[in-house]
Amino acid sequence: MSISENLLKIKNKLPTNVTLVAVSKTKPSSDIIEAYTTGHRIFGENKIQEMVAKYKELPKDIEWHMIGHIQRNKVKYMASFVSLIHAVDSLRLLKEINKQALKNNRIINCLLQIKIASEESKFGLTENEVSELLASEEFKSYQNIKIEGLMGMATFTDNQEQLQKEFRLLKNIFDTICNLDIANCQLEILSMGMSDDYPIALENGSNMVRVGSSIFGKRAYSINFNKN
Ligand SMILES: *Cc1c(COP(=O)(O)O)cnc(C)c1O
Repeated sequence: MSISENLLKIKNKLPTNVTLVAVSKTKPSSDIIEAYTTGHRIFGENKIQEMVAKYKELPKDIEWHMIGHIQRNKVKYMASFVSLIHAVDSLRLLKEINKQALKNNRIINCLLQIKIASEESKFGLTENEVSELLASEEFKSYQNIKIEGLMGMATFTDNQEQLQKEFRLLKNIFDTICNLDIANCQLEILSMGMSDDYPIALENGSNMVRVGSSIFGKRAYSINFNKN
């Protein structure tokens, strides 16, 4: 099946409250254009330089999501256009995003990444760390960022029970903190689920899925996804 057929097939099956991020990392701009012609506008990349290059050559109504792990010194390259940063995992990174957002006279929307996988290699905050971060005066002073939700990546496994457990953990954390009364934090988005596990993520409360290989086909080389 073609990219556009894959995309429409997945999109048409998603509940209407769920946002699809088409993960185009490593794929050429021509593949993104094919998906774009179906009307799709939200694309995810995991490397800042690659996203910037694609942003420059592609239509300007694309919403670019940065889904990978971020190095602080590269935030400036995407600060003028990125529409959502998924994998924020520290106050230091937020400080830099806030600074660059201010320079660009805008508010940058972010998600906090929570560590739910058992693998050591995956990034993210624990429940206590998130609560501490959100409660800090430092965080509340960042007026050019807005935390719109949480993001997580499950363990790379076919064990359905383990996936279920990890997604449910993230949903529970989301439910526990979603009613905090903090000006720059309104939790609405729960970004969880990829090609192989998004149906289970949806059953457990996800409202944003990040799907790459099921739309664009397998990537040519294996990627350490959460790294830049
Ligand atoms: C690559 C990637 C995805 C998409 O993975 P697929 O298995 O190709 O759907 C989703 N989320 C993140 C953070 C990624 O790096």
